Amino acid sequence: MQKERLVNEFIEMVQISSLSLKEKNFAENLSKRLQSLGLEVFIDNAGEKCNGNTGNIIAKLKGNTSAPTIMFSAHMDTVVPGENIKPQIRDGYIYSDGTTVLGSDDKAGIAAILEAIRYIKENNMKHGDIELVFFIAEEGGLFGSKHLDYSKVESKMAFILDSGGPVGDVIVQGPSQMKIIADFKGKAAHAGVAPEKGINAIQVASRAINSMKLLRIDHETTANVGVITGGTATNIVTDAVNVKFEARSLNNDKLKAQSDHMVDCINKACEEFNTTCDLQVSLNYPAFTINNETPIAKLVTRAIESLGLTANLTSTGGGSDTNILNGNGIPAVTLAIGMSNVHTTAENIAIEDLVKSAELVAAIIQQVQNT
Ligand SMILES: [Zn+2]
Repeated sequence: MQKERLVNEFIEMVQISSLSLKEKNFAENLSKRLQSLGLEVFIDNAGEKCNGNTGNIIAKLKGNTSAPTIMFSAHMDTVVPGENIKPQIRDGYIYSDGTTVLGSDDKAGIAAILEAIRYIKENNMKHGDIELVFFIAEEGGLFGSKHLDYSKVESKMAFILDSGGPVGDVIVQGPSQMKIIADFKGKAAHAGVAPEKGINAIQVASRAINSMKLLRIDHETTANVGVITGGTATNIVTDAVNVKFEARSLNNDKLKAQSDHMVDCINKACEEFNTTCDLQVSLNYPAFTINNETPIAKLVTRAIESLGLTANLTSTGGGSDTNILNGNGIPAVTLAIGMSNVHTTAENIAIEDLVKSAELVAAIIQQVQNT
């Protein structure tokens, strides 16, 4: 790998802002980089479906062997504060100037993938067809992967470069998340003059919440009430309360049981107070588990070990594009790339980890020849 070229490209890319749903400038710049590397570039219409100003980039590199098609992916968007990023190098690490995030989440992933593609081309390495997918709007909703034009991708497995932790860590298990939004309906009345004419939506919501099992449900399952909004004055019986809940589990059946329980508590409380509630229950993302014996787990383990690193197959409590790809039938894992303190102004990444991440991408491309 050419360390200096990799670092320079990373530094150039983080200086092009790409807040979620505003990735257009960056996507145009990245498309040019991909085309100059000889890839065929296509931008899908995901942006139109989630009010973004561009779609996901799907780029293809034709293979010179018949090895299975594989995908490498990272997301283009960054969190706030993420404009006018001024990267600085100190003691082998890259930081922002302290007023913004750095954007290594996830441009370190993009830079590592690009350098690996340059490397395999410059070294005339054997490789099968390779697809690169760069998502919009991962942060705050996984909108890019949810709206990806899946008819345009052929990969049999996918590697998403988007996690902190040492290179060699691989996330092979992640939870599902259910969102429940409840609009409790009450009936307004003067709290001093005629309270018996009212129904207090705060009381109804409280009864529902108080009867729920929440927080740690079991070793695979969690649940939480996160936001309550409602009420205007103490002398009015409250007529409306909005409450937002979530539940997560590594096991889809347990997730359903927990969310059914929460809905049941809401309905019972409404019955007791002789009122109703508008409920929105939606699966935000599905759980995934990649068994150690599956081809993708074996492949990534071999690739990591070929670099003299330790493969650590592990799980996460968060959701990512990896959940969505798995949910759409493409076995996918998340690769750790060493980024640290992400989503803060102290975000940083070691140059050594950028290089190792690029090496890992090239090693996966090499190892897929042996499947
Ligand atoms: Zn990320």
